[in-house]
Amino acid sequence: MPIYEYLCNDCEAFFEIFFKSFGNTSGTKCPGCSSESVERKISSVSFKIDSSLNMSNSDSYYSDRSNIGKHVESSFAKNGLEMPETVRKTIENARSGKMPDNLDI
Ligand SMILES: [Zn+2]
Repeated sequence: MPIYEYLCNDCEAFFEIFFKSFGNTSGTKCPGCSSESVERKISSVSFKIDSSLNMSNSDSYYSDRSNIGKHVESSFAKNGLEMPETVRKTIENARSGKMPDNLDI
């Protein structure tokens, strides 16, 4: 799941948008002035959930399950965001070895 960072060309506000999918990123508006003249910046946040769930045992980092989701947690913390419940649950499940039934995040 991507988080994109945007810069508003009108009021120069810097904001982040959390998208549920990679396909639906159109129609983004500035939360401050509702301008649609926004510029997408290179995201500093990338989610590793998918790759961590498909981890192989040869991946030494993720072979320690307590490391699963750490990147995601720190990404949210770094950006001052509260981690969504669905994300937290998925990480918890992954750490306990359970794969989610449907990964809807
Ligand atoms: Zn704006």
